[in-house]
Amino acid sequence: MARILLSNDDGVHAHGLAALAAALVGAGHTVMVAAPDRERSAQGHTLTLHKPLRADVIRPGWWSVSGTPADCVYLALHALLPEPPELVVSGINNGANVGHDVFYSGTVAAAMEAALGGVPSIAVSLEHGPGPRRWDVAAPIAVEVVARALEERIAPGLLLNVNVPNAPTRGLRVVAQGIRQYDNKVEARVDPRGRAYYWLGGDKLGEAPAGETDAALLHQGFATLTPIHADLTHHPSLEAMASWAR
Ligand code: MN
Repeated sequence: MARILLSNDDGVHAHGLAALAAALVGAGHTVMVAAPDRERSAQGHTLTLHKPLRADVIRPGWWSVSGTPADCVYLALHALLPEPPELVVSGINNGANVGHDVFYSGTVAAAMEAALGGVPSIAVSLEHGPGPRRWDVAAPIAVEVVARALEERIAPGLLLNVNVPNAPTRGLRVVAQGIRQYDNKVEARVDPRGRAYYWLGGDKLGEAPAGETDAALLHQGFATLTPIHADLTHHPSLEAMASWAR
């Protein structure tokens, strides 16, 4: 059984975090938590460098942090925990993190901060969908992937991005990251003083995502696992652009 640090971006009081913690404790793991004191969804990999952070103990091993998801993991790994955890798990997020979501997601950023710090990590997200929220479907899948990741001793820089449908699943598929799947809507309005203001963020595109990707398989009712890492290098271009060097 392992020492596991949990974080999220929905806040330390979120249902998904409670469900994840309960399931991992139930499986015999030692769980610690460092999570934002409020919702911090879609904050990406923001670090707070220009103001102080507070980390309040709300129960033994649980810290409520006045920062972003990445702050929480940074702080836990480098200050709060007496020794590094064997694994960091972020989630269970309220909403999927597939395709290009990973660039905006605080859930994924918390896990990526662990990966950057040399601790293997898992991000777990539960898709929005009709009916009650199925934390009870996502939590056992998180426990299963945690067990497998520990058993296989996954590489320290690796992040397993797991997404779960809001219904009993057709199984777990290991698939590549997909692409952006929202319309790029901006709602422009005018405030009472006559100045324009904007709401970012569109709806999901109507058509089903194609291909063997996280977005597509999740849409088909499978839980998905996508191993990702921090290296954004486009390797084919290294060779293609070699002649640009001088
Ligand atoms: Mn969230």
